[in-house]
Amino acid sequence: MQERILILGGTGEASAVARRLVAEGRDVISSLAGRLADGPDLPGRVRVGGFGGVEGLLNFLRMERITRVIDATHPFAAAMSRHARAACAMAGITLERLERPLWDRHPGDRWHWADDAAMAARMAPGLGRRILLTVGAQTIGAFTRFGGPYYLVRLIEHPGRLPFPHYDLLLGRGPFPYDRELAVMRRFDIDLVVSKASGGAATEGKIAAARPLGIPVLLLRRPGPRPDSRRPTYQSGSDLSALHAP
Ligand code: NAP
Repeated sequence: MQERILILGGTGEASAVARRLVAEGRDVISSLAGRLADGPDLPGRVRVGGFGGVEGLLNFLRMERITRVIDATHPFAAAMSRHARAACAMAGITLERLERPLWDRHPGDRWHWADDAAMAARMAPGLGRRILLTVGAQTIGAFTRFGGPYYLVRLIEHPGRLPFPHYDLLLGRGPFPYDRELAVMRRFDIDLVVSKASGGAATEGKIAAARPLGIPVLLLRRPGPRPDSRRPTYQSGSDLSALHAP
């Protein structure tokens, strides 16, 4: 049977895999959830929007005669990964997971951990008064319930007016280099960074910049059974490891 690969994407890693596999002449379909109005420019076929749960994904896999699925979604996209595991098991299709490594912890890092957004939102006002909030549009809602601190909210797309009493909005798409992060934290007098434990090079700049400034970082733990892994993990036999090779 001819190989046809479905990449579950929405991340820089997924885009990189798609570009590489298409350049190799493989038959690739990239799938995006469609959360952003302005999605990545990808080679090969691109489909946008949910599949309709496990059943919808299973139908898609069969209709499109998919032979291999690469789950390169974000570490916090737990539902999509769960559905991919279930549908691929039912269809008997190979599933590879491209798991983004967590940032390395260095001496001087002041990391605090929250189990979820609600817990992080409760903890944040006790850790800082001028907070750089980089948790993504779907997660900021939890923080709006706790007035008091000033939030510098960084998002990819404009969310409209946010219900924070004191805030500024920074629009930007990664990668965010160290020097720029350092300058942002100094300019806005930031004293706490709040982030998902996403890992990856594109957003490591804020973690590194917090270090010399002595700023604590409040991290939301990854959901579900996923490890807060410091090493990339792949299904054995995967040829994706080259993506993270030194
Ligand atoms: P999620 O909670 O795991 O997924 C919710 C639903 O969205 C899924 O059940 C599925 O709908 C649909 N979906 C998610 N990813 C999809 C994909 N790649 N292709 C088609 N449908 C998809 O996911 P999420 O956290 O909302 O993330 C959505 C997308 O944004 C993902 O592709 C992820 O890689 C990307 N992203 C997420 C974050 C984050 O912090 N969560 C950060 C950066 C990028 P159906 O059940 O209808 O199939």
